Amino acid sequence: AQLANQIAAGEVVERPASVIKELVENSLDAGADRIEVEVDKGGHKRILIRDNGSGIGKQELTLALSRHATSKIHCLDDLEQIISLGFRGEALASISSVSRLTLTSKPQAQPEAWQAIAEGRDMRVRLIPAAHPDGTSVEVLDLFFNTPARRKFLRTEKTEFQHIDEVIRRIALSRFDTAFSLKHNGKLLRQYPKAASQAARQKRVALVCGQGFAQQALTISSELQGLSLHGWLSLEPASQPDQQYFYVNGRMMRDKLIHHAIRQAFEGWLPQEAHPAFVLYLTLDAREVDVNVHPAKHEVRFHQARLVHDFIFRALQDALEQPAP
Ligand code: ADP
Ligand code: MG
Repeated sequence: AQLANQIAAGEVVERPASVIKELVENSLDAGADRIEVEVDKGGHKRILIRDNGSGIGKQELTLALSRHATSKIHCLDDLEQIISLGFRGEALASISSVSRLTLTSKPQAQPEAWQAIAEGRDMRVRLIPAAHPDGTSVEVLDLFFNTPARRKFLRTEKTEFQHIDEVIRRIALSRFDTAFSLKHNGKLLRQYPKAASQAARQKRVALVCGQGFAQQALTISSELQGLSLHGWLSLEPASQPDQQYFYVNGRMMRDKLIHHAIRQAFEGWLPQEAHPAFVLYLTLDAREVDVNVHPAKHEVRFHQARLVHDFIFRALQDALEQPAP
């Protein structure tokens, strides 16, 4: 079991940031609206994710750590319209096979909390009573301690932290209804409070993308035939394409078609080598889009590609042509 898990881990768990992405997505799937992330030494020494979500009952704790145990897909129809972010049922098993992982949880309806630890070659799960408020904590110690080849690929503490910071930024821009915090080596570095109003959302965008972006940003709001595009774009050219956040039905995507439409819309508005900066949300009927089930989950296929392309292009062009406020 451990080998299969370690092989799977190779696909899902590349570095501390990818562990954090999986765990935070689990917390979101569990309905948490407060998620705290703590890391030590770029996440390589310790990762802790604490949420106030639905929790995992004592009976399900062991199952949650085993491969292909997902509570999120019940039939093939569910695959058609994947609502939850995680659906492969292997993140926890994979991560626990390449680290020392403990899962502590308390559902509201259960008076006491329990902690699960998977140990040894056969990954037997031990359960012990614990103290924990409603919700779940996952602690990951010594990532890749038993897979030296993976461990070798870890970069400096600073670089790994930058990847983690970016993962949290991407998620924070997709879930304004959830509060996030990020600590590194005991220092609270990021704090994104819940943002319910448009003004609060704009504040979060400023926290994530910087005041520069927020002050320059044009607001986009366009709808057409079941398609909608909302968000912000900035004419302040970014030196690197690192302020480009595009979400399709709530998931961050990096897609050729989308980027082509954006580049085309910006033509003539930015100097040649400059990169546009944007935070954009496209929503459309889930049946109009196929999301790749590859772990990276960054690719997307639109059934009506031309329509979507032209819609994005026009929406951005209209916003750019608006007279400055
Ligand atoms: P998946 O997310 O693909 O179902 P995971 O290995 O990530 O697979 O998680 C396994 C299961 O453990 C989930 O289906 C869910 O039932 C449970 N689980 C994991 N993390 C949490 C959490 N933070 N809160 C509640 N349940 C969780
Ligand atoms: Mg998951």
